[in-house]
Amino acid sequence: MKFYALRGATTVTKNDRDEILLRTTELIRQLLNENSLDCKDIVSIIFTATKDIDAVYPAVAARKMGMTSVPLMCCQEMDVKGSLPMCIRVMMHIQLEEERVLSPVYLEKAVVLRPDIAKLTIAIDGPAGAGKSTVARLLAKRMGILYLDTGAMYRAMALKVLKQGGDPAKPEDVIPLLADTDIQVQHGNGDQTIMLDGRDVTSEIRANSVSNAASDVATIPEVRIKLVELQRGIAEQVSLVMDGRDIGTHVMPDAALKVFLTAAPEERARRRWKELKQKGNLNIDFDTILNEIIKRDENDSKRTYAPLKKADDAVLIDTTQKSIEQVVDEIESLLKN
Ligand code: C5P
Repeated sequence: MKFYALRGATTVTKNDRDEILLRTTELIRQLLNENSLDCKDIVSIIFTATKDIDAVYPAVAARKMGMTSVPLMCCQEMDVKGSLPMCIRVMMHIQLEEERVLSPVYLEKAVVLRPDIAKLTIAIDGPAGAGKSTVARLLAKRMGILYLDTGAMYRAMALKVLKQGGDPAKPEDVIPLLADTDIQVQHGNGDQTIMLDGRDVTSEIRANSVSNAASDVATIPEVRIKLVELQRGIAEQVSLVMDGRDIGTHVMPDAALKVFLTAAPEERARRRWKELKQKGNLNIDFDTILNEIIKRDENDSKRTYAPLKKADDAVLIDTTQKSIEQVVDEIESLLKN
């Protein structure tokens, strides 16, 4: 005989007897169905509920499902500060004749407990310099999921056009190159590597000239269609935090959470200026950077196809006066609440 412990969790919206029983029944049913289990395979079940749930024992749902002889136990979950509220967890002990891989099940808001297994997509949009990539990278790291920087893809396309001597603002220079351009994103050790036609261009695409060119190629619908297909393909496979300009409105309109980060243009220019200085660009002039940021904002928000825009259901966070950690904490608590 083989013994297993199978985990799952779900949440309720209120401390209501019917909802607690409904959600617990759904959870148990899904654990059994997804793993082709039968009641007779269950040795025992431990349920825990957060302290805001006390209208009924979740175990009642199991009894109502016919588990009359399975030992059941309900406990209160540790009340850790900042943890997911209104949550019911289960630990099922299973006994099987054969060896098997069992899949845990996380439903409702409990998906945030295991974003690595329950697919969770988070969209972060906003103008250049609002802190998107730093925030998205740290958030993904904390949650143990992938970070996808879509701006890097537009940058790679822009680099290709520049290398070929084309004008990134001219569709006639850009569109013919599309069919012959291979942009790939590789992930490893929490970092993203951008490959352009088989060459690693991760550092090269960060040059200031490429930033401005990226904003130009990004106004061309044919470029966007190609890159959005790539982005959606990745989002279908894994849990991820994706940042860009049109993620919540266009690329992932069904994202579990949408955040729109913004900051005053002067603050965004100051951040970019500091970053460039740190990279050794000592002659860079602040006003030039500010003007470039304003021009990119205009390019991004005035283009007709998939412009930079806050999705109606996105949460707006102004990062002007906030640290990266504060913003990431805020997003994590949005996910939990
Ligand atoms: O975010 P980042 O500055 O790297 O993006 C480079 C440019 O790519 C942006 O200025 C924007 O014009 C474009 N972009 C876009 N849509 C995205 C991501 C980036 O139009 N999803």
